Amino acid sequence: MPRLGVLGWPVAHSRSPAIHNAALAALGMRGWRYQRLPVPPALFAETTRALGSAGFLGANVTIPHKHAALALATHASPAAREIGAANTLTFAADGTIAAENTDAPGLIAALGRLTDLPAHPRALVLGAGGSARAIVWALREAGASEVSVWNRTPERAQALAQDLGVRAALAPHAADLLVNCTSVGLQPADGVERSATEAEALNQLGLTFDQVGEYSYVVDLVYRSGSTPLLAAARAHGASTVDGLEVLVAQGALSFELWTGCKAPLEVMRRAVREQDPGDG
Ligand code: NAP
Repeated sequence: MPRLGVLGWPVAHSRSPAIHNAALAALGMRGWRYQRLPVPPALFAETTRALGSAGFLGANVTIPHKHAALALATHASPAAREIGAANTLTFAADGTIAAENTDAPGLIAALGRLTDLPAHPRALVLGAGGSARAIVWALREAGASEVSVWNRTPERAQALAQDLGVRAALAPHAADLLVNCTSVGLQPADGVERSATEAEALNQLGLTFDQVGEYSYVVDLVYRSGSTPLLAAARAHGASTVDGLEVLVAQGALSFELWTGCKAPLEVMRRAVREQDPGDG
């Protein structure tokens, strides 16, 4: 029975099993199964090396293992190497492990939802963690005319910018496209405290509500039930938006196609991800 899974710690709230199992069922791939693989960092290398012989064809990798996944792979795609992280591993019968990063092309695929996005947008990326690296790389490769990075800790933005040949911004500035790659906005807000919480979340991103209006296209990698503070503000200004669930489905679809060789049933995967409870991964 071909097996697939998602390696993470924690991983209990991952929506990837729902997305992939819905896709496998829709394609009639009986016997295939995608499962959570909760593995602590200390056991990651040992466990992952054993997955191939345990019947696994592939695994997604989420927090905190994306760097370790690249390090243990026997070969890696140029994208995974340049980004410095892998979110997709493929286990071959000969024991080799291939590393890929589908977060980057997933973002580009998800941007396809923004039908009137300029071909060479000026882009500002918020954050300098693992996902920001993938997104900056993707935007650069996709031909953005300018990519800047802003981060709460400026030294990390400078290091990322230097590594990937883009610009570090001292403060968020106007651009066509804004992509939030920080974890700000993960917590749901409700009731009377909602507007205060939204203002606070925007503030953590170096933005005011009015400044959000400077971006015509806004992507938030963070996902949860309901809108994030950034997407709520962007929509209030009339911007075109893409949410984190769409990006999650897009990267998952690319991993699915890599492992199965079948075209991913995107609409099935979209429906499955939106039926799930809030979570990450
Ligand atoms: P990460 O490596 O831990 O980076 C976290 C980033 O968030 C850092 O830049 C950090 O800034 C910033 N940050 C955290 N708390 C902050 C705060 N209170 N104020 C301002 N900045 C703050 O995480 P990651 O892997 O890049 O993931 C980031 C987010 O993207 C997570 O919410 C994750 O769930 C989501 N994500 C979604 C997808 C998807 O497919 N939709 C894929 C990957 C990730 P400092 O450097 O200053 O600490």
